[in-house]
Amino acid sequence: MTAQIIDGKAIAATMRQTFKARVDLLAQRGERPGLVVILVGADPASQVYVRNKVNGCLAIGMHSEKLEYPADVAPQVVLKKIAELNSDASVHGILVQLPLPPQFNEQEILEAIAPEKDVDGFHAENVGALLQGKPRFIPCTPYGVIKMLEASGVDLVGMDAVVIGRSNIVGKPMAALLINAGATVTVCHSKTKNLAEHVARADLVVAAVGRAKFVTPEMLKPGAVVIDVGINRLPDGTLCGDVDFAACAAVAGQITPVPGGVGPMTITMLLANTIEAAERKAGLR
Ligand code: NAD
Repeated sequence: MTAQIIDGKAIAATMRQTFKARVDLLAQRGERPGLVVILVGADPASQVYVRNKVNGCLAIGMHSEKLEYPADVAPQVVLKKIAELNSDASVHGILVQLPLPPQFNEQEILEAIAPEKDVDGFHAENVGALLQGKPRFIPCTPYGVIKMLEASGVDLVGMDAVVIGRSNIVGKPMAALLINAGATVTVCHSKTKNLAEHVARADLVVAAVGRAKFVTPEMLKPGAVVIDVGINRLPDGTLCGDVDFAACAAVAGQITPVPGGVGPMTITMLLANTIEAAERKAGLR
């Protein structure tokens, strides 16, 4: 069997085309969607992510700006800025790029963002809403995975799904979304016994581990849908997912590549969340 490739780049491009009209309609009503991204420190990977987020907004006519602070900034300075942005009517989304330097309590920063502007969906109120099956903002990476599955015609109802990874950013919200969509979900993590047994009976595997080629073809049920969230850099500098793509493509039914899979969807869903925030404010949803 040769798996069908789920092309995240193409799905993301199609989605972004529909966003422009929504942004234009909002702008006509005086609510041009605006996203502010806060970056603390000079981590090169974070700088690339933030630049891509800001440019993604600008490309579809949204307003976006980056606020940069040195790595040794006092948390109070950032908290004060978040409070200002919370009451700034031109700002619909606020995002603090993680990770933050050690003097920060990340949860305190995330909880300081007004829940209705929390476009990353990490505020406790938004996490709770997601678990209740009434999400306000869905964390961008798992939201992107759900949209990719939808676009690929995968019917999640009754599927046996295994999520590998239990982070607050990917694994846990991914599991909640799959449960909400009707799948039977197992979450595996670093303490899981017999991970291979769980994966072997999965119709859908979502890998969010952070280890190159962690998922191998012998682990998969033939025909399984395989979603690779991982981004790992190999010693030769190339990017590699958590799935051994070339080998697993011979066993899986559908599979996402890295790069060009989940990655392009993540920023797309950030744009979607910011547009949704502005539409809510404008009374359009
Ligand atoms: P994390 O480090 O917070 O979590 C990793 C998870 O993997 C943990 O829950 C841990 O229990 C589990 N794990 C580790 N070793 C394991 C093992 N041997 N067996 C089973 N489980 C194990 O990472 P994260 O933030 O969830 O990100 C995971 C991966 O996804 C990383 O490679 C990250 O770069 C990538 N990522 C990609 C995107 C994207 O847009 N494509 C977004 C976020 C994260």
